Amino acid sequence: MGRPGFNCRAAPTTAYRKDAAARCNLVRACHFVRRLCSSEMPSYGLTTPASRRRTPDIKAWSGSSSVVDKSLISTSCTPVATGDNRLRVAVDVDEVLGRFVYTLNKFCKDQYDMEYGVGDYWIYEFAKIWGCSQERSNQIVHEFFRSQHFKDGIPVVPGALEALTRLSESNYELVVVTSRQHVIQDATLRWLDRHYSGLFQEVYFGNHFALEGKSQRKSDICRTIGARVLIDDNPSYALECAAAGIHVLLYDWGGAYPWSKLPPHAGAYNPDLIRVVQDWGEVERELASLAQRLRATADNT
Ligand SMILES: [Mg+2]
Repeated sequence: MGRPGFNCRAAPTTAYRKDAAARCNLVRACHFVRRLCSSEMPSYGLTTPASRRRTPDIKAWSGSSSVVDKSLISTSCTPVATGDNRLRVAVDVDEVLGRFVYTLNKFCKDQYDMEYGVGDYWIYEFAKIWGCSQERSNQIVHEFFRSQHFKDGIPVVPGALEALTRLSESNYELVVVTSRQHVIQDATLRWLDRHYSGLFQEVYFGNHFALEGKSQRKSDICRTIGARVLIDDNPSYALECAAAGIHVLLYDWGGAYPWSKLPPHAGAYNPDLIRVVQDWGEVERELASLAQRLRATADNT
C-alpha cells in the first residue's frame, strides 16, 4: 500500500518495496511513481489533512513519447465530459499559483547583485532580460533551484487557493501542466502538496529550458490528457494552445505582468479562445461562463 495521499495504481507497490533495486516497469516513464515503488519512500503528503486527501493520481510525464506508457495515461485521465459533467482544467504553476520571478529576483540580487523587479520582464525569457546567453540564463536558473531561496518556498499568488478549492468542489477537474523541468519535479510536488493539497488530480512537466531531457509542448500535453482549458500567464503558450483549439485564460495578475500581453500581430487566433484574467475571482467567473457555453454547444450537437 502506498503512502497516504498518493497512490500508484499501476502495480501493487508492496511487491516492489521489498526490493530497493526493483522498479515498477509498468510506469517506467514516470520517475515520481517509480520512486513510490521503491523501498525508499519520500515523505510527501505529511501536511495533508486526512479530510482533504483524495488520493490524487499525481504523476509526471517524462516528455519522451518513446517511453510514455499511453495506457497508464489514458486510464488515469478522465474524459472531458464525464458522467458528472466535470470540465478538465489545466493550471500553470509559475506566476499563476506561485510567485516565481519575484523569488528568482531576490536570488539574483543576493547572489549576483543583479537588480530586477517583476515589472522589468517584458518577455518571460530571462536571457533577454538579463542580457546574457541562453546557456548562462539556464545555469543561473538551475543555481536558483539549488538555492535556499527556492528551497524556502515560493510564495503563493493571493486568491488562488480559495478559488481552486471552490472550483475543485464544483464541476471542474483540476490538473497541473507546467513547463517546469524534471530536475525540480520532486520539489514542485512537495510545494504543491504544501500549498494546494488535495486540489490537483495530476501533475505534468513540460521540461522546457532544461539542461537535459526532452521537452513536451503544453498544447500536446493538454490535448493528450483531455484538458479543454489552460490557465497560464505566458502568451506564447496561450497562442500555441489556442491554435490547438484549447481555451486559455491568460493570467495577467492585476494587469501588472509585462510579459503577459498578447502581441499586436496575434490576430490569427480565435479571440473566443483566449480571455485575459487579472485575478482568481475573474478566473472563476470566466470558467463558469465557458462551462456554460461548452455545455450549450454539447447540447446542440
Ligand atoms: Mg507561468
